[in-house]
Amino acid sequence: MNIELEAPKMATTLCRDCGTSMIYETIPLFGQDLALLLSLRCDDCAKAMEEQAAAEAAAKQAAEREAYVDRSIPPDMRETYEDHADFNRALWEAVKRWRPSRDEFWLGIIGPAGICKTRCMALLAMKAMRAGIRATWTTANRLLDASTERKSGDRQLATLAREHLSDCLHAPWLFIDDLGKNEWPAAFESQFFQILDHRKNHRMPIVYSSNAHPDQFSLVLSDLNREPIIGRLKDRCTLIHMRR
Ligand SMILES: [Zn+2]
Repeated sequence: MNIELEAPKMATTLCRDCGTSMIYETIPLFGQDLALLLSLRCDDCAKAMEEQAAAEAAAKQAAEREAYVDRSIPPDMRETYEDHADFNRALWEAVKRWRPSRDEFWLGIIGPAGICKTRCMALLAMKAMRAGIRATWTTANRLLDASTERKSGDRQLATLAREHLSDCLHAPWLFIDDLGKNEWPAAFESQFFQILDHRKNHRMPIVYSSNAHPDQFSLVLSDLNREPIIGRLKDRCTLIHMRR
């Protein structure tokens, strides 16, 4: 069997964007040229259009990530200025350099109140979010509330609490602000342990801030959860310990 292929027929037209005369390949069909129905552009204009589309997609992505930052990070923490006189640049330099690795994929920022722990953590969270990492922001108090509200008779409250706890379990990165030595009721302890255990087993990053070294939580933790919680807070965790 002979198959005869025709050579492509070339024709001339004008670029629809810049009007330059250009050669194109015809698409003959039923005596018409389908190619003319397409938007024919010269190479330069086709490239410019691609670049513009890429720039628009990048801008859209940046706007979406910024909206995610706005939804996730508390407003006063979003407004952190690295050049402010009171800002703890030394701490930020240390936090900024941290990346989760295979061996150490948690970060604990420990130190007294008023040394910008939360600010540095928020800056890191925003940096991660702007790089496209999904991250959940929580505080010890929010976790404490959620661990009781998940069983509330108020269905909406219970749903919100469960959703938040689920985010804390499954978000690619989790930020927990302000762990302290005060009040660790049993419901909180067990929720907190579940989150730590799940994330440790799945090598999912946690960044936490605390006024106390994890060892000091032994004073407030129950016999049941003392070792498991403190152990996980320290295991494969980089600790940045700031002293005044
Ligand atoms: Zn053109």
